[in-house]
Amino acid sequence: MVVTRLPRPAAAAYAPGPHHRVAVIGGGASGVLNAINLLGRSADPGLRVEIHEASGIVGRGIAYGTNDPRHLLNVRSRHMSAFPDIPSDLIEWARRTGRSEDPQAFLPRLDFATYLQDRLAQVADHRLTICAGRVEDVVPVGGQFEIRTSDVTSTADSVVLAYGNQRPKALVLDGDQLPAASWHLPNPWDLGALRVLPDDATIVVVGTGLTAVDTVITLLEEGPRRRVVMVSRQGQLPRAHVAQLSTAWVQPVPEGPLTADLLADHVKEQIAAAASQGVGWRAVVDGLRAATTPLWKRLPLAERRRFLEVHAREWEVRRHRMAPEVAARIRAYEDDGRLSVLGGGIASIADRGDRCQVLVGDAPTPIVAQALVNCTGPATDITRSHDPLLLALRERGLVTPDPLHLGIDTLDGGELVDETGRAVPGLFAVGPPRKGTLWESTAIPEIRAQAAAVADGIIARSALGVDVLRGITGDLGSTHPSAAAPA
Ligand SMILES: Cc1cc2nc3c(=O)[nH]c(=O)nc-3n(C[C@H](O)[C@H](O)[C@H](O)COP(=O)(O)OP(=O)(O)OC[C@H]3O[C@@H](n4cnc5c(N)ncnc54)[C@H](O)[C@@H]3O)c2cc1C
Repeated sequence: MVVTRLPRPAAAAYAPGPHHRVAVIGGGASGVLNAINLLGRSADPGLRVEIHEASGIVGRGIAYGTNDPRHLLNVRSRHMSAFPDIPSDLIEWARRTGRSEDPQAFLPRLDFATYLQDRLAQVADHRLTICAGRVEDVVPVGGQFEIRTSDVTSTADSVVLAYGNQRPKALVLDGDQLPAASWHLPNPWDLGALRVLPDDATIVVVGTGLTAVDTVITLLEEGPRRRVVMVSRQGQLPRAHVAQLSTAWVQPVPEGPLTADLLADHVKEQIAAAASQGVGWRAVVDGLRAATTPLWKRLPLAERRRFLEVHAREWEVRRHRMAPEVAARIRAYEDDGRLSVLGGGIASIADRGDRCQVLVGDAPTPIVAQALVNCTGPATDITRSHDPLLLALRERGLVTPDPLHLGIDTLDGGELVDETGRAVPGLFAVGPPRKGTLWESTAIPEIRAQAAAVADGIIARSALGVDVLRGITGDLGSTHPSAAAPA
């Protein structure tokens, strides 16, 4: 594996060569899994894989970049293997490296980053380069792509967007964004900013999802005299995993036209049916996992919208659960009176210099807090993103939001759909940005399958040979053989 900054190429960089160069943009779990699959599945010595990672360190990303060992995976080891066809891979790795080999365990998330790095190192050879730097633009040129950072330009025949999760969207109250005050912490994944808060601080955490839970753990474990108030509209925490022998209660959803409400009714009926057999609701939710994307695709757009408005939160708190140890910590904080979880949403926030005053729902008394952390979850709407790469790709018409603005529009094989509705040959996406197309596109069990499928698509492309490819794709934006109407 070569760790380098790429040299600034001369104009001759466009000269056709024997290599098929793949630029993977983003070196979090999605990018690394894609690179592992490319290198592991192709024996072609002419393949070149360049992972461009803004932080310079691959395998971590937002999810596994935490340095707090109390932040645990929210998926059991037996479902977190890098390879769907080798479910024991993470467990075996954990055993060999002196970690818990229990398949039911929830490993620290920072260990998962080490696992991904080890797995990449296992397949890395002269074909892999890791490029430290943030990609700011991808420019189609003569059937290839130019990959531009602020100071380096390189070229690629195929590009994989694996830019992952965006920071939460800015909190807005009464049409105004919150001020850049010292109490306002807009990035929940900046643990350094949490750690320097006073030991006796009161902190408002906006959001009650899994990131909010991590934030609470870091704040309260490291500051025993701190107090946290979590606030969201419904005040619902993710449910906890429990010991389960079987994981799936599978009952097909009947054929025919489907609505969001029918789907919700089906899930409720199955939960009741499972309960009558002594099986818990978690097995029903887990049993629907493989069917989730096909069901999402069966819903007409208006019904997907209704699902988001009415049912999504109920689904999410059951689908993305906390490890039991994490749930026990949260319960203990509540029992000690150090944590309150409130529904009703934020009614007002007033800037009081070095602190803020927060009114929740219709409560009469405000909370005076030394900090307010935005844990509302990754922003998904690319039309509101200030990310330079997304701005540039939109400007070029290469990406387009899916109709619900949950991410970007892609085809089943991962190829991007441009603003005219046509496939962009050679430009793929893996991971959370595909949520609008697939719904389940955030966790490793889905990402590893996407990473393998996209790798296969690229390997098939590379087998065509550079000259043929440039013949096919020289006019980017023309209808690609695999193009189909977006879902
Ligand atoms: C806090 C948190 C915890 C989670 N825990 C779990 C879990 O336990 N189990 C599970 O299955 N899933 C979990 N997830 C879901 C998670 O989305 C996926 O597991 C996975 O980590 C997503 O990886 P990613 O590489 O797509 O995104 P990210 O983790 O966001 O990584 C994207 C990477 O791309 C880089 N990047 C972005 N833009 C550019 C650019 N323009 N140029 C260069 N580099 C760029 C970033 O620096 C970053 O390193 C969690 C998610 C979060 C946010």
